[in-house]
Amino acid sequence: MTGTATVVGAGIGGLATAIGLRRAGWTVTVLERRTELERYGAAFGIHPTAQSALDRLGVGDALRDHAVPYRDAHIRTPAGRPLARLPLERIESKAGRPELLISRPYLLDALLAGLDAFGDVPLQLGERVTDVDALAAGQDLVIGADGIRSAVRTARFGDRSGPRRVGTVAWIGIADFESPVHGETWGSGRFFGLTPVEPGRTNWYATVPEATTAEELRASFTGWHDPIPRILDATDPATWIRYEMRHLHPALPSFVSADARPASRVPTGARPAPVALVGDAAHAMTPNLGQGACTAILDADALTRALAAAPPGPAGIAGALRAYDAERRRSAQRTAFGSRTLHRFMSTERTRLRDAAVRLLPG
Ligand SMILES: Cc1cc2nc3c(=O)[nH]c(=O)nc-3n(C[C@H](O)[C@H](O)[C@H](O)COP(=O)(O)OP(=O)(O)OC[C@H]3O[C@@H](n4cnc5c(N)ncnc54)[C@H](O)[C@@H]3O)c2cc1C
Repeated sequence: MTGTATVVGAGIGGLATAIGLRRAGWTVTVLERRTELERYGAAFGIHPTAQSALDRLGVGDALRDHAVPYRDAHIRTPAGRPLARLPLERIESKAGRPELLISRPYLLDALLAGLDAFGDVPLQLGERVTDVDALAAGQDLVIGADGIRSAVRTARFGDRSGPRRVGTVAWIGIADFESPVHGETWGSGRFFGLTPVEPGRTNWYATVPEATTAEELRASFTGWHDPIPRILDATDPATWIRYEMRHLHPALPSFVSADARPASRVPTGARPAPVALVGDAAHAMTPNLGQGACTAILDADALTRALAAAPPGPAGIAGALRAYDAERRRSAQRTAFGSRTLHRFMSTERTRLRDAAVRLLPG
């Protein structure tokens, strides 16, 4: 079916959904609260399943133009001793293509170019949505792609589920030199990650119980193996991004809200517009499994495929939303739970037990 949709939020999830809807013949408008799209952010891991979804959305080649493969990475102790390999080669041999890394600005550019190519999808900046019901008037569907503090989610599901701190602070950045080693280094209550992102540069992330200044962060990793202190010393803290680690809690009972009654059985003006949530609005997770962008892309792909295949009318939309919820909710919530569990495991202070368990992982 086709119809008219408003997508709230122009992050990865919103842009990917807008492309999928437009490809399916929908008339789409994207509303974004920021007055310009912020081209910052460090690297995203893009799993082979999300790469296939981007291929279906027509932006796979643009992704590959700026992405690098992620291979040969280990979990190490702060002294630099490898404990286990990250399962990248296993992912690659199973999927037939490698996990990719791409910096957030390049992925945003690829999606924006994909949207621009249609020439008829308005992206309205400086539009903060507050009244979802007013917005929904005259629309067949509203997509909440408005991140962890989603106004669309709150309008349909209340504020029982919301952002919940997990007790650590993350710092991320990109350094202008290539690290000789990649992977993660797990210490007591803190960890540090190093990944490729583009030739000559290294993406890094650090998670600590608390560190409010760059100097405190540097002190947290003094004496750790090369190049961790070197990366922190050689990069300008003004380019680092700091955020409180949070996830959406409790998990939502549904990613969609729709009324399937035929028009004859609904009093005039009484049908609230159907809503679907994608990405962080639906299932914001800690970044430990590197699945934040992937799950948003998979949501966009699943939702827009279901809508493209649906018969016309409110019952068709309601059925497509049910199919989307069935395909994505359990899977995304399992990923979020796994990511939160891994976060706890990585940031424990019982390192001997943890490291002994990590050594048992298949090589
Ligand atoms: C500026 C920025 C930088 C980031 N950098 C990184 C990074 O380096 N590494 C990483 O792993 N993750 C990063 N993230 C998070 C990551 O992009 C998301 O976790 C993931 O891609 C899922 O994206 P999303 O589209 O669901 O949500 P988001 O990326 O959060 O996008 C939501 C969008 O909705 C907009 N919005 C929110 N409320 C409203 C409203 N009421 N009305 C209209 N628009 C609204 C927001 O401004 C935002 O553009 C970043 C997010 C942002 C916004």
